[in-house]
Parts: sequence; C-alpha cells; structure tokens
Amino acid sequence: MSGGTPRARPFERAAHEALQDVQLRRNLAKATSAIREKRALATGELPDWQALREAGRAIKAHTVANLDHYLMRLEQSVLARGGQVHWARDAAEANSIVQTLVTATGAREAIKVKSLTTDEIGLNDALASIGVHALETDLAELIVQLAHEPSSHILVPAIHKNRSEIRELFLRSMGLKASELSDAPSDLAAAARRFLRGKFLSATVGISGANFAVADTGAVCVVESEGNGRMCTTLPQTLITVMGIEKVVPSWRAMEVFLQLLPRSSTAERMNPYTSFWTGVRHGDGPQAFHLVLLDNGRSDVLASEDRRQTLYCIRCSACLNTCPVYARVGGHAYGSHYPGPIGAILTPQLVDTPEADTLPFASTLCGACYEVCPVKIDIPSVLLDLRHRAVERRRLHRGRLAALDTEDGAMRLAAGIFAQPHRYRWVQRWARLVQRPFVKDGYVERLPGYLGGWTRTRDLPAVAGTTFREWWLEGGDDG
Ligand code: SF4
Repeated sequence: MSGGTPRARPFERAAHEALQDVQLRRNLAKATSAIREKRALATGELPDWQALREAGRAIKAHTVANLDHYLMRLEQSVLARGGQVHWARDAAEANSIVQTLVTATGAREAIKVKSLTTDEIGLNDALASIGVHALETDLAELIVQLAHEPSSHILVPAIHKNRSEIRELFLRSMGLKASELSDAPSDLAAAARRFLRGKFLSATVGISGANFAVADTGAVCVVESEGNGRMCTTLPQTLITVMGIEKVVPSWRAMEVFLQLLPRSSTAERMNPYTSFWTGVRHGDGPQAFHLVLLDNGRSDVLASEDRRQTLYCIRCSACLNTCPVYARVGGHAYGSHYPGPIGAILTPQLVDTPEADTLPFASTLCGACYEVCPVKIDIPSVLLDLRHRAVERRRLHRGRLAALDTEDGAMRLAAGIFAQPHRYRWVQRWARLVQRPFVKDGYVERLPGYLGGWTRTRDLPAVAGTTFREWWLEGGDDG
C-alpha cells in the first residue's frame, strides 16, 4: 500500500527503537504540544463543551446500540438518491469490491482522500495489484506516500517529519532543483498543489473515506482543511467511498453536535475549512456514479462486547494521541498499526487478532489524559485494562499450567501474598531494609542488580524508610 504496511512487532521492542531517534522525539514534542495548546483554547471557548461531549457520547451510544437499524436506513436513503451500497465483511471483500468497480471504469489511476479506512484494508496495494495507481491527495498523506512510509498520526500522518525533511523529499520525488523550493510551508504547499492539480483535472475515479453518514438522508460527510477532498469528491465521474459501519449517525440534528466537537478537538478550529456533504447522484452535477462500501472488518465483534463497544464511538479526532505521553515520545510507527496512540491501543487489538496487537494495551501509563480530552468521552483507560486482562488470560491459556512460571504473573502473585498478611508485609520491609543497603544513595536506590535492574535503568526507586510510619506510630508518634 502507499505509505507502506506497518511492521508487526511487539510494542515494547518497537518503542525501544523509536526512543533512540532524537530527531523524531523533537519533531513529535514540538507538534503535539502546539496542537494541545491550541485545542485547549478552542474547547475552552465553549461554555457548554462538557454538555456537548455528553451529547456526543449519548448519540454514539444510541446509534451503536441500534447499528443494524441505522445501517439499513442509510442503505435505503443512498439507494433512493441514486447511489449504490456494497457490504464488505472484511478487508479482502472490500478490496475486491473496489477493484471490480474501478476496473469497470477502465481507469488506471484514482485520486484519494481521507484514507484511514482504506489504509486499514490495504486498498492501495490491492489496486496496485490490478495495475491501478491510487494517488493520495491530502498533503500529509501525499508526503508519507512519496516517502514510502506508513502514516504515524490519524490526522497529521507526516507529523514525524519536519519541514526540511519534507523539502528534501519533494526535491527528490517531484524532480525539482534545490533553488526552486525552500522549506517555507507556503512553498511546500504550492509545490504539492502544482503536483496534484493536473491529477485532479484528469482523474475519472475518486476514492474517499468518510467522517459521517446521515442515515435519514444518505448524505456522506468529509471534513478537511485543504480543499483537496472536495476536488476528489466532486471532479471525477465515479466516486467510491469506503466507510466503517460505525460512522453512521441517525440524523442531521446529530451533525450539529459532531460538527462542533470534531474540529475543535482535532485541528483546534471552530469549524473545518472544508465540510463537504454529498447525497447520492445528481444529473449533470458532480460524480455520475456513487458507491458506498460499508466495511465491517471486525467491528461487529467489537460491538458484541458491552464493555468494549464504546471503542466504536470514536470520531478520529486524534486528541488522545496529542495528549498521550507515550505517543509523544515514541510516535505512531511504534504501534505497528494505522491507528496509533490511545485509540489504536484499544481499537487495533480488537480488529487484529495477533500476539503483537495484544501488546498495544500495555502502551499506556493509564494517566487518564486521553479520557479527559476525548470529545465523545470514551473511557479509554477502562478499555485498556479490560484488554490487558484479556491479553494475560490469552497468554495463560496459551501456556497452560506453565503460566505460573511467567515472571510478571509470579511477581504479582508474590505481591498479593505479601500484601494479604500484615505480618508478612512487616517482615518484607525489615528484610528489604537490610538487602537494599549496598544500593541506597541519598534515600534512593539508583541501580539494582540483574533482572531487577530493568526497573532502575530509567528511574530511581525510593528506598524503604529506616523507620516506617507504623513503627513510628507504635513508638508513640513523637517526631522529636
Ligand atoms: S478516542 Fe476520542 S480522543 Fe481519541 S481519536 Fe477517538 S474521539 Fe478522538
């Protein structure tokens, strides 16, 4: 696929490698802190922000609980307005549908926008296999496509690159001379515009994702900042939209809530510069064929779990990524998924059943910052804990009775045994006081030997106190 398929590695290993990249950490820190600050200002402007979040969550909870009803309604509405609807159980089925549709047009190139769902199914690779080139038109998507890298952020796929890296890339891939391009954002945008303009005017097939689809009317919505999406969805003769089934909303009234929540949470804007809606087909105006591909690809399984189905409320604003201390240090590629950050840590393991995906729920400090900013109030920490529990149970099942020998399991059982009995706890405190002596400096254990050294490699451990509170209290509590 364009942008490359992320490599499947356990998060821990991928994160360790990412942390060695100083430039990456610098780029991420700068970008995420700037977006965070702007977002806080944009949401702080609205006195009813918390009420809007509640409303967003309530609408999503209702829609997801009645998903079959609203999807059928959406299908009827799209058909009634001249569009066609296709149901895809999984990535292979969705890709095959799109391949057939594109082949029927005879096109060798398609222009694309809002690519996250199509990235999930690897559509660009599937089209390449039948000789069709899919060109990304969103500026950041174009950058990662030209660099043959996967996206590293939901909203800003090239967040890991700085301006001079992008300039180098454009010089290389657009055949420009060094004197023709500076690293000023306006120059870079102008170069991309010149590169894309001809493609917009000649393409006969456009492919898009969708932010929302209104069940009552069949209107599909894409929000964006550059206007390229609007050209993608209006200029070609054929438009194919691939949409996850959870993107449906019941009515236009729901859009009033989401069109306030999404721009402020994502780009920190009061409204998106381009909010495009299209409804079926209108003779002589815009695409003359419209196909809506409704993608399941594991979403029904997410829906089946009452505790985890809130994952489907996500409106892909990326606020949780920008606020996550783990994401801000390792970046999106470490997650090995097209959905990075906290939302990726809960969505990917539910869509992709691999041991690597099962490591993602551990990619969190459980600080709760993601929950605080989520515009639809997804309780990400609770879902993370639930998925951690599932991962541990799976590991245990896989290993059978040998699970008792797992280091983490063993440590937890030992701790539980110690904390369960006061006399054991006191005995361990006395013992630890003796054993820690060679390692204590200024009240902290800075380096532990052997396996335990993993803990102190990046942090100091407070030493066990010479006199514990309990001992002090039993001795009369006199601080003199
Ligand atoms: S989980 Fe919430 S904060 Fe994160 S991308 Fe989805 S809607 Fe935004």
